[in-house]
Parts: sequence; structure tokens; C-alpha cells
Amino acid sequence: MNARIHPRIPSPPAKALAVFLILILAMPLPLFARYQPTRGSNAFSREQELQAGQQASADVLKKMPVLPESDPVTQYVQRLGAQLTVHAPGDPWPYHFRVVNQKEINAFALPGGPIFINMGTIQAADSEAQLAGVMAHEISHVVQRHATRAATKQMKVQMPLQILGALLGRSSLGQLAAEGISFGAGSYFMKNSRQNESEADLIGTDIMYDTGYNPQAMADFFAKLEKEGGANGPQFFSDHPNPGNRAGAVEREVHSLAPKTYRTGSPEFAQIKQRVAGLKPLTAQEIAAQQQQQTQSVKGRLPAAEYPSRETQAFTHDLFQISYPKNWQVFGDRTSTVNIAPPSGVSDNAIAYGVLISDYQPEDKNATVDQSTHALLNTLRQSNQDMKQVGNDEDIHVAGVTGKSVDLIATSPVQDANGHGQRERDWLVTVPGRQGNVIYLVFIAPDADFNTLRPTFDQMLRSLRIK
Ligand SMILES: [Zn+2]
Repeated sequence: MNARIHPRIPSPPAKALAVFLILILAMPLPLFARYQPTRGSNAFSREQELQAGQQASADVLKKMPVLPESDPVTQYVQRLGAQLTVHAPGDPWPYHFRVVNQKEINAFALPGGPIFINMGTIQAADSEAQLAGVMAHEISHVVQRHATRAATKQMKVQMPLQILGALLGRSSLGQLAAEGISFGAGSYFMKNSRQNESEADLIGTDIMYDTGYNPQAMADFFAKLEKEGGANGPQFFSDHPNPGNRAGAVEREVHSLAPKTYRTGSPEFAQIKQRVAGLKPLTAQEIAAQQQQQTQSVKGRLPAAEYPSRETQAFTHDLFQISYPKNWQVFGDRTSTVNIAPPSGVSDNAIAYGVLISDYQPEDKNATVDQSTHALLNTLRQSNQDMKQVGNDEDIHVAGVTGKSVDLIATSPVQDANGHGQRERDWLVTVPGRQGNVIYLVFIAPDADFNTLRPTFDQMLRSLRIK
């Protein structure tokens, strides 16, 4: 860009101005540099991002005390949110705001747009700009697709690329969940890194500025939370850790923007503050207790109708064929990882009854089935930390070849009367595939039910054919 050469050419002021304007229009960046959204490595397509967020959102609505859409507090937050999201940079996402009736000060954003603000956050905000600051910060996590970027990073470490490809290629999110990839309140992928935090602060600053709120209010609110520390603050920082000198970073970003007179809060904010002041939202502990009760009533032992029927049907995958009880279902398709399970044995984030079938490609193409099995076990243990091997692995004759059989124990998603996860048995069988890979099956059931299902599992294994 030859911006510095032009002013030397003598020209009447009007012409100089015209040249200057043309230069501005031709410049790729705005006059006042602002933080630009980044993309980073992301294995999720836009559609998968939206789907993941919707599914996690449904889960949050089911498990958390979310205020109804019609609640005046929700409606106020949604109106404020709409003013902010107009100025969200990058790809447009369907932003949607809900309020969680929870005391602890926190907020979280799910992939593709759903954003949840805790009641405690609204109660603690001293001004509309402070509340807008938290919301602008959350919007920025969506803009940056932080959750799916974190999941992508984790999956690359955890899984051989082939499994990752198969999972994301066509799979349903239920299978992703079976591999430990899920989003939502408390999910590992919703815990942001310090790098994510400074990015969200910078984009949040720009959104605040563009909406007309003083961006410094965002940093002020975080500083206030940190100073108060107290019982209700820390939860926010466990999901949104302080990247260090937030106020300084916000100030630097503000200085890169044109000076501006900021708006004052709406009279509505004062009304809402008054409304929420007397409310007693639930504590995290009370919510956890409610969830436990819910889990027990929703998820329990298998209903009688779902114990395996004798009648079977066949499922043909690109890599294998297998027969399974007619009253069970296949989750997945002929190219993906599949779960074959009774309908209530699988939830969106766990499999309690049934079998998971996938293939594993060891790094060493010449690895023996024994070596591949051990490498696979390490991979499985990384995503199921409490999984333990019981006894030795043994040779097993299956589909006309010799594979390996390994018994494992883990914690079942089905809980006992005290709300603790029951002991689960996982029976891993590996079978050498055609291209140096292994096909593996994990038969899963709570320990108490495993022997009842064992004949079905045996029968399924006997029907297995490798293609
Ligand atoms: Zn954050």
C-alpha cells in the first residue's frame, strides 16, 4: 500500500481528501484495527457444530433449572442479547439466551449459539454494561468456536485419525458421546483455556463497543468477582480462567478503536434488578441433588421389553456383518462406529447396555493383534479413566481367525440406590481386519446384568463376519 507516498504529491485539498478516501476504501483492514476472529483447527462442520449445540442445549434444559422463555428475566436478557449479537463478528450463528435459576455466578456458551446466564450473574451485576460484558464474552466463545476447537484438539490426541474421521464423517453425536465427546454444563470442553479467555475478552470488548456499552465494564465485573472471591464467584473462573491483566488487555483494545461516548443502562435493568433481588436461586449442590433423583427415575435397569428377543436381524457394515436381537437398534451407519443397543440402553452421552463396534488402525501397520489390542486399550483408557483390566487377555477364535478377549470393569452410567454409578463390565474383543487394522467390539452392561446378557453377546460374536 502506497499510503505514505501520496501526501507528497502536491494537490488541492479536495483532491487529497478524495485520494485519502479511496485509500481507506481500498485498505483491507478498517482504519481502527480491532481483534479479528480466528478459525483454528476444527473437525466439526457448521452443521455438526449446530447439532452438537442443540443436543447439549436440550440436555441442559432437561437437567438444569432453566427459566421459561416467557419469564420477564429471560425476555430482558434475550432483548439485551439481541442488541449485542447484531455486532458479533464472523459467521452468523443462531444465538439464543436462557437464564439458569442458579445462585453461583456463571455463564456458558454452547457450540453454535445457545448461551446460558446464571441468575446469580444478573443479581451480581452492578450495571447493565457489566451484564452485557459477561454476555458479550460468551458470544465471543461462540464466534471463536472454542468448544469444538477444544474437542478437535482432544480427539486428535486421543484417537487414531481413522476413528476420528469415521466419527465425524457421518456419525451421530451419540457415538461421539460414546467416545467421551460431549458438550454442556460441566463438560470438559466447556472449560476454557487462558488463550480462549483473552480472545473472548478482546472480541467481547469490540461487541460491547459496537453496541455502545463501555467495554471496561466487562473487565470491572470480572475484577469484582475476583475480589469478592467468596462462595459464589469461583465457579465462573473454573470455566473462564483469568488470562491475567484483563483490564489492561481490554483497555489496549479500546485504545485501538475510535473514541466514543458510551450509553447508560436502560431503565429496564433497574426493574429487573429489583425483580431478581428477592429471588433465591438454587445452589449448585441443590441442582446436583435434583439431577440425581431425575437420573434414577429416567435411567435404571433395562425395561423387560428390551431384554434381547430371540429373533435376530443382520446389520451389514462396510467392514463386517453381524446379527443382533430384533428389538435392539443400530445407532450409526455402514461407514461409522456403531452402537447396537436396546433403545433405553443408550443416552446422548453414555451407553449402559449394548455393544460398540469400531475399527482401530495401529500406527505400526505390521503390529500383531496382541500389540494392536494393547495400543487400543491405552486409547480406551484415556477416555474412560476408571476403566481397569481384569485378569489376562486371552486368545479367542472369532470369525475364522484368532483375536483377543479382554475383560474390563468401569463405572456404569446406571446408578445404584445411593446415586453412585454401578460397576460396569466391558468385554473387549479384537479381531484382525483385512488391512492391518483391528475390528473391535466392546460389550457393555452393568455388572449385575452382564451374565444375563452374556448369551446374547456370545451369539452376536459368533455371527460376526469380517469383510
Ligand atoms: Zn470465557
